[in-house]
Amino acid sequence: MARVAKPKPEPVRIRLKKNDLVEVISGKEEGKTGKVLKVLREKNQVLVEKVNMIKRHTRPSPTSGQGGIVEKEAPLVVSKVMLICPKCATATRFRLTVTAEGKKARVCRKCKELIDG
Ligand SMILES: [Zn+2]
Repeated sequence: MARVAKPKPEPVRIRLKKNDLVEVISGKEEGKTGKVLKVLREKNQVLVEKVNMIKRHTRPSPTSGQGGIVEKEAPLVVSKVMLICPKCATATRFRLTVTAEGKKARVCRKCKELIDG
């Protein structure tokens, strides 16, 4: 039997960036929107402001102060969020393009507007 090399799991290219506005498209947080706080590329996750909040119990410590219950964002799988186009104001698909200045930019598939800058 011929041995077939298993394809390496290719890391998904995350096209989201910090401060992007995204909408959650599945899961219990569906429909919520927020700003991307952090992109965790190696895990394919993003942290979205005020979405997927979890309660963390912390102990008092010299660094974090008095301890107690802290609410913080838990990471979401990147496939559960979609970028919101600032022009259409809806969650949209987008493609990459290169601008006249040679910079990479994202373009809304609906309205063809540049999402970046
Ligand atoms: Zn658009």
